[in-house]
Amino acid sequence: MGTLSEEANEYLTEILLEKDGSLQSVSTIIKQLAIDNQKFTRILDRLRKADTKESLEKAQEEYIKFRRFIIENQYTTPDTIRKTFRRSKYISLEEIGELYEECEADQDYWYCDRCGILTKKNGQLKGLKARLCGNHHQELNYVRKIKGEVGLLQIKEGIRQRVCFPGIPELNLYLALEEIKTEHNNYLKEVRLYPGLDRYDIQLCFSDYKVWAIDFKDVRNPYKLAKNLKGLYGEGSLQYDQSFYVISDRCVDNYPDYTKIVKEEAKQLPKQTQVISDKVFKQKVTEKITQLQKLGNV
Ligand SMILES: [Zn+2]
Repeated sequence: MGTLSEEANEYLTEILLEKDGSLQSVSTIIKQLAIDNQKFTRILDRLRKADTKESLEKAQEEYIKFRRFIIENQYTTPDTIRKTFRRSKYISLEEIGELYEECEADQDYWYCDRCGILTKKNGQLKGLKARLCGNHHQELNYVRKIKGEVGLLQIKEGIRQRVCFPGIPELNLYLALEEIKTEHNNYLKEVRLYPGLDRYDIQLCFSDYKVWAIDFKDVRNPYKLAKNLKGLYGEGSLQYDQSFYVISDRCVDNYPDYTKIVKEEAKQLPKQTQVISDKVFKQKVTEKITQLQKLGNV
């Protein structure tokens, strides 16, 4: 496997501090995280090989459903998986099942609407990244108790790291944009999730035929993020007029001058690609709509 992400490193350090700390356990954990991840990326790679227009559209549709499902259903049951995906052509029930593991029937489980599955240690509930979502008091309205029962499944750790944790704020942005579209559908015509099988995260099409491309990022350290940023893919139906790296509000709030640092440090990023917070991005969309309304551009 390649190098570990910042998140995986942080996570491993945390596990090691709590477990026995032996190298044996590090390599086992790393291997397991990599194996879990491979199961996910293998599905995506296969879907991308669809070679007719119809099969690509179907693969795209199934990918959105699949990715949303694992972010929104970090606990589930085999029955729910079966009911949701029984008509899937490109993703098998077994493959989805392999991304999950069984829970204990006689134990309570916990979930945070903001960061996903929580684990209980010494009576305290902990999420994946305490610095980005740290308060998990049981009385909070975004913290939920899930009763363990026979058949309850939870998503595996490797998938939680890479897909579920950043997926929550990313889907929230998508849902907020969908809401803006419903309200102003004369001006914001389309909000597409994971276009081109995830070449970037969201595509917006406005009534003046302008297209905006968005890639969402939820990486705590702006220097680490900056190193990997390049221009967004823009071939064929993925062409755009403006492109954005939208940073989760929790990352921007957690690190002073976050977007400024990214802009300065991202040497491979084209100047025209904007780096802005989730909150500022939504304002920009609203401003664009106001502008179109003034022009009467329907
Ligand atoms: Zn949380």
